[in-house]
Amino acid sequence: MTHHEYDVVIVGAGGAGMRAALESSQRARTAVLTKLYPTRSHTGAAQGGMAAALANVEDDSAEWHVFDTIKGGDYLVDQDAAEILCNEAIDAVLDLEKMGLPFNRTPEGKVDQRRFGGHTRNHGEAAVRRACYSADRTGHMILQTLYQQCIKQEVEFFNEYYVLDLILDGDPQAAAPGEEVAVAGVVALELSTGEIHTFNAKAVIFATGGAGKVFKTTSNAHTLTGDGMGIALNAGLPLEDMEFFQFHPTGLAGLGILLSEAARGEGGILRNSEGERFMERYAPTIKDLAPRDMVARAMANEVREGRGAGPHQDYVLLDLTHLEPAHIDEKLPDITEFARTYLGVEPYTEPVPVYPTAHYAMGGIPTTVQGEVLRNNTDVVKGLYAAGECACVSVHGANRLGTNSLLDINVFGRRAGIAAAEYASGVDAAPAFPEDGDARIRALVDGLLATVGGTGTERVSEIRKALQETMDRNVQVFRDADSLAEATRVVAELKERFTDVAIHDRGKRFNTDLLEAIELGFLLEIAEVVVAGALAREESRGGHYREDFPTRDDERFLHHTMAYATGEGVRLDTKPVVITKYQPMERKY
Ligand SMILES: Cc1cc2nc3c(=O)[nH]c(=O)nc-3n(C[C@H](O)[C@H](O)[C@H](O)COP(=O)(O)OP(=O)(O)OC[C@H]3O[C@@H](n4cnc5c(N)ncnc54)[C@H](O)[C@@H]3O)c2cc1C
Repeated sequence: MTHHEYDVVIVGAGGAGMRAALESSQRARTAVLTKLYPTRSHTGAAQGGMAAALANVEDDSAEWHVFDTIKGGDYLVDQDAAEILCNEAIDAVLDLEKMGLPFNRTPEGKVDQRRFGGHTRNHGEAAVRRACYSADRTGHMILQTLYQQCIKQEVEFFNEYYVLDLILDGDPQAAAPGEEVAVAGVVALELSTGEIHTFNAKAVIFATGGAGKVFKTTSNAHTLTGDGMGIALNAGLPLEDMEFFQFHPTGLAGLGILLSEAARGEGGILRNSEGERFMERYAPTIKDLAPRDMVARAMANEVREGRGAGPHQDYVLLDLTHLEPAHIDEKLPDITEFARTYLGVEPYTEPVPVYPTAHYAMGGIPTTVQGEVLRNNTDVVKGLYAAGECACVSVHGANRLGTNSLLDINVFGRRAGIAAAEYASGVDAAPAFPEDGDARIRALVDGLLATVGGTGTERVSEIRKALQETMDRNVQVFRDADSLAEATRVVAELKERFTDVAIHDRGKRFNTDLLEAIELGFLLEIAEVVVAGALAREESRGGHYREDFPTRDDERFLHHTMAYATGEGVRLDTKPVVITKYQPMERKY
């Protein structure tokens, strides 16, 4: 075992982690631990853009952006956080521009902007051009730019270090209100050697990204297994609003690979088997540029009512054929290539088969607007921070608007980086790292390695497949009490089967068999929380649609869900929504 000591340890080197690192490493001795090489993080897959009311091409204001974010999130957004997000958006884009990010430009040389779902002028009048972009590879450019800056600033990376545990001083569930619980560090597995490392730190920032792999059909990378959320849950911390998962309307049918909403922002139209532009019926004002939850539901509904396209009538069509090929090549080069490569469809002349795909976790580790992690509704864990998709601050509420996540990781990544470093500078020493701090992980890893050639009968891949299929069948765009009861039963059964899992590689170096088993453990825990929250929330709001309770119920459910793992399953609690200016209204577009 190797032991390390730092002021700040950041877990994750995606957009949020590296944005935090740029701030933190200027102020305190900082290490970044990441299971992937930094430039392979999922931020690099982001396509369409990053929102900011720059008003470079059309009249716009940060206040309209705030309103759109709150309404888009179906009034579950904490409005103080949304104000910070939208007000700091402009500097967030300018910071990236100064770092050298190659944004698309207007003819006058300003950062160009395009339309995106739910972003409107003057509280819903019409769609507005608010998304700053770099063709359809905006995330790639952000990730590369941040990485270059980190290298320039000599940020210390521990690449391919898989963090498995969070060590706290104090028990977050047993501690009385007001009693201090502080972070002491993390435990990580070095993937290239199989060695366990312990990191003692005054402050820790989680920036581990999403959990899309809970579902089968997803736009998310293979590695998005919700590790950070699972680690927090295991450490006795709550997860907030996990029942709200976003299904992006335009995944390539049958595959889930994403075609950015930028396709509709640039003029693409959704059609059913009759060639009808069906979004005119569901959202008469902004049509195909309605927020994602509405478009995904409309698509699923068209298919259910028999107007799906294709041999099995199980998808709808994204029509770009009226756009100039040169325009497509300039603005949407990557995603149109995906359609050619994966479906053999030529977007210049043929509409592309699409269907909703699991895309984004609105919920996550609850934080304050400084990124401090909450252990209940009011107490923070001293020195512990979270930012990006693994966190819930909550700026996305029940449904995130497109382009608000690349914004979120920059704004709240920066804030968390500053807050963590300032906190670390203000304390003399980190709490002592317990002698047996790595005991739990050693037992977990040794236990799994001992199954090689042993009697375990279950396979990781089979349990994962069963989990993902159940989630797709029962917890997707439409849910009801029966489907969620079925998901509850299956997840419990899979958790039981998981105790008898066996891996087949006893090697120490890059033991991906071991890694996937650990990831599956996180996926099962997260699925359990998602389903428990969805079952309890007897209303429809944003990405969570209950067929047995099809309307929003502000009287009973205008609150966040706080889920805790206990020995006897998930315990659910609630947390008030912060409302500053905008009282909940009916959501129409
Ligand atoms: C295909 C696609 C397109 C998208 N397009 C857009 C868009 O156009 N606009 C927009 O706003 N949003 C978009 N999004 C969403 C957005 O990209 C993500 O929400 C955001 O990039 C997440 O950033 P992050 O830094 O939180 O996490 P990530 O970029 O996923 O990074 C997570 C990091 O954590 C590390 N990590 C994870 N677990 C561990 C562990 N156990 N130990 C150590 N390290 C760990 C990983 O190595 C990685 O470095 C898109 C998402 C997808 C999937």
